[in-house]
Amino acid sequence: MSLQTLKSLQKQLASKQISSRELVTDHLARVEAHNTALNAFITLDRDGALAAAEAADKAIAAGTAGPLAGLPIAHKDIFCTEGVLTTCGSKILSNFVSPYDATVVARLKAAGTVSLGKTNLDEFAMGSTNESSFFGAAKNPWNLAHVPGGSSGGSAAAVAAGLVPAATGTDTGGSIRQPASFCGITGIKPTYGTVSRYGMIAYASSLDQGGPLAHTAEDCALLLDAISGFDERDSTSLQRAATQTTAELDRPLAGLKIGLPREYFGEGLAGDVRTAIEAALAELRKLGATTVEVSLPNTHLAIPAYYVIAPAEASSNLSRFDGVRYGHRASEYKDLAEMYSRSRAEGFGAEVKRRILVGTYVLSHGYYDAYYIKAQQLRRLIAEDFKQALAQCDVIAGPVAPTTAPVLGQMADDPVQMYLSDIYTLGVNLAGLPGLSAPCGFGANGLPVGLQLIGNYFAEARLLNVAHQFQQATDWHLRSPAHRAG
Ligand code: GLN
Repeated sequence: MSLQTLKSLQKQLASKQISSRELVTDHLARVEAHNTALNAFITLDRDGALAAAEAADKAIAAGTAGPLAGLPIAHKDIFCTEGVLTTCGSKILSNFVSPYDATVVARLKAAGTVSLGKTNLDEFAMGSTNESSFFGAAKNPWNLAHVPGGSSGGSAAAVAAGLVPAATGTDTGGSIRQPASFCGITGIKPTYGTVSRYGMIAYASSLDQGGPLAHTAEDCALLLDAISGFDERDSTSLQRAATQTTAELDRPLAGLKIGLPREYFGEGLAGDVRTAIEAALAELRKLGATTVEVSLPNTHLAIPAYYVIAPAEASSNLSRFDGVRYGHRASEYKDLAEMYSRSRAEGFGAEVKRRILVGTYVLSHGYYDAYYIKAQQLRRLIAEDFKQALAQCDVIAGPVAPTTAPVLGQMADDPVQMYLSDIYTLGVNLAGLPGLSAPCGFGANGLPVGLQLIGNYFAEARLLNVAHQFQQATDWHLRSPAHRAG
């Protein structure tokens, strides 16, 4: 069966070739047939999806439908969904049913999409492999022995495997781009403040940003335009209208200047990933782009800066999970203090505890200046690097990750090795810039490679335009993994 994109399904719904009910029923069956192998979904909302599909069909018939009416999607289980389990991949929230919808969820509902359920993720989005999920790791549809990436691994695996045509994700240090890259799909992390964080469970608030994962840049554009724009319920939401990225997809690439950061092509980059990226750059030159070498000299500081700032913010954000207001509560304790400590000791996994410890340490008296303030200074240097580089080019291109998806278990006992693999993605979040990943080839082991495109603030439309033009000229995004439904 040919690839089902949101765009193609939208046409079939509009011309009444298919109803939303049929589409949703088919996709629910796909999840039921394949989720045991993939573990991409934590929760399947069968009844909610069928009711929403019927409502969409009525709206389509009445001519009152929203622009994305009847299209099946899924939400990363970090977004609060009214009346539906919202676990954040953690035992501590394994019984939490949200009383309200995140803004991203509400906006996609209003546009008419039908959510099939909630996808797997690293616990509280902390990780790069999906293996820190309380519910077990999702698997990579290209090879079930490999990780799908993280933290939005369930969303990426679900899309790549054809369980849903698109899904939401969040990216604090690469969690949309890296799983998109590992699973051979497209994903965009918007400029900080573009997509509301309201109802998106906080990991590191100054870095977290929601965004779409889909097969094509065109589908990502449709979703981004629907979820972006000012939201008064998020104090860091920017006073800007929703993006209008779909309108710019067809712009030709002639004259586009692409910057290649020296530091993104140096030691540590696997040869097969480099080969795929270089072939993609050759293709972009054929489309009229020129390339120029640029430098991001403080790239090596991104990992230490991020792994101080993110845990610091996480240690504060996660203090709300105390067994009192929601989530898991220890069954035995002798006093209030022990109730807190036992609930948290039982409810959080090893990686989350590690981050809370590091975060509490770097924020404590005597260490705050040495670590936290220092990391904030590095953050500024990194942002300056991007500013200088982007003064010399329109977009920056490079790899998303140094290798293709690792084998399950390979990183499990070595958190530092896992942190090091975030080298090409963290800087974008520290600077607050938009970044995208688009499929551009395969590694020696047959697993996908993603091309990362980084733009200036608010350059989402340009990034999606470049990726769309690339996808008009190549078919990497159309390739089918070994494990695909439908
Ligand atoms: N791998 C990074 C981390 O563990 C990024 C995760 C993310 O973007 N949520 O923090």
